[in-house]
Order: sequence, then structure tokens, then C-alpha cells
Amino acid sequence: MTRSNVPLVRFHGVRKSFGELEVLKGIDLEVAPGEVVALIGRSGSGKSTALRCVNGLERINAGELTVCGRELHGGKVDLRELRQDVGIVFQSYNLFPHLTVEQNVTLAPRKVHKIGAGEARDLAARVLAQVGLSDKAQNYPEQLSGGQQQRVAIARSLAMRPKLILFDEVTSALDPELTGEVLRVIEQLASEGMTMMLVTHEMAFARSVADQVVFMHQGRVWETGTGDMLANPQTPELRQFVGNGL
Ligand code: ADP
Ligand code: MG
Repeated sequence: MTRSNVPLVRFHGVRKSFGELEVLKGIDLEVAPGEVVALIGRSGSGKSTALRCVNGLERINAGELTVCGRELHGGKVDLRELRQDVGIVFQSYNLFPHLTVEQNVTLAPRKVHKIGAGEARDLAARVLAQVGLSDKAQNYPEQLSGGQQQRVAIARSLAMRPKLILFDEVTSALDPELTGEVLRVIEQLASEGMTMMLVTHEMAFARSVADQVVFMHQGRVWETGTGDMLANPQTPELRQFVGNGL
């Protein structure tokens, strides 16, 4: 097998419980390098839990989960190293209000990669350009719109040069007119070949940007396919979901 055929993420029979509640009931899923995978499904179907397992925020109970060559089901995993490879962006941006955009974006790489001030400035310029915010480096978060703050959060993730980025409903807290600018940034990253897993309620977006759409239902991968499966659901559950969701 050539290197490029090795999936960056591989779920095999993954199970996860919180106490008595089994939330992931045997998930099989692979994400190839450069692939964009959209997770869709009702609230409570296990989408966030699946994402959180990928960067080690949750530990799986059974099955196998391999991420960027690390076996998360195995013995010891260095979570700090894992999270350098795997970025995650949430619905809430969690920027530091007392730091500028540039400082927010370079805080982690300065600490982890021990880069100097000049290099940090160049890095900030590069990742802020990627999210269309070159002119906001010296602003504070409160001076930005919600959509701009979310783009800073994406830039902060890019600054760590991850191999994979996870997005969990990153537009859900935004007004509709600010959603588009964030989705366009994700679309741009997709075209640059970034590997991404995203949980989204934006069905039209999932259909257009994702190489693989995964419909989760009651802790299982219920149906999976290309974006076109949303126009042609094979199960009553997906049919009902897209019927309500569109
Ligand atoms: P989704 O993202 O699809 O809405 P989640 O993965 O957040 O679903 O949640 C799946 C189920 O797991 C829900 O029933 C939720 O209440 C439960 N759950 C999620 N996180 C925890 C937790 N830390 N402790 C207990 N139950 C949890
Ligand atoms: Mg969720």
C-alpha cells in the first residue's frame, strides 16, 4: 500500500458509552488524506462524540480507532502530540479577549513550536490571509463580528499546521448572513487539500463540499455516500431527516 492510501482516520467497530448510555454502537468510518467528510444526523445521534474521540477528548470503550498513524485504542497515546496533528474548531470560538488576533493565533505555536516573534508574525500573516483577515491582525476579538471571530479560530487551528481539522457545528451560533463567510473559508481549505471532518446542519454545504457524507442515527453510521445521497436517501430515517432538515 502506498502512503497516500493509508487513511488518516479509521474507525473500526468503535463503541463509546457514558455510564449506562451507549452513544456509539460500533462505528466504521475511514477518512483518506485530502478527503472532506461531513457528519450529519439528529441531535443526540453521536456526531460530536465521534469527533471528540478523534482528537482524544473522549476515549473509546471498544473497537479500533487509528488517527494519523496512532492507535487510540492502544496503550499510551501522547495526547499533546495527537492534538498537534488534529485541530478542532467548535461552535464557540473561545478567543482570549485581552489578546490581539495575531496573539491569539500564535499563542500555541509560540509555546509548542518555540518560534520567535518574527516567525510568529509571518505565521500569523499567512494563516490570517488564508481566512481573509489580513487586515485584522492588531484588532481585539470584541472588535470583530461573530463570523470574523470564527475565522480567527480557524486560523488559530491552521497555525499549528495540523494534518486534519475537525469542525463541530462551527456556524450554528452565527446569524445566517455570517454563516456564508465561514463556509467559504472551509470550502477554500477543502480546495487546498486539507483533510477535514465536519459536523454540520448546512445540508446544501455538506452536499457541495463533502467527498463523503455520513448520516448518523442512534449511535450508528446509518447511511453513507457522496453528497448525492441526500437527494436520493435509501433509508426512511435519512429520508425523514433531509425532509425536515431542508
Ligand atoms: P450530537 O453531536 O449528534 O448531537 P452527541 O455526541 O453530543 O450527539 O451526544 C450523543 C449522546 O451522548 C447524547 O445522548 C448526549 O446526551 C450524550 N452525551 C454526550 N456527551 C456526554 C457526556 N460527557 N456525558 C454523558 N452523556 C453525554
Ligand atoms: Mg453535537
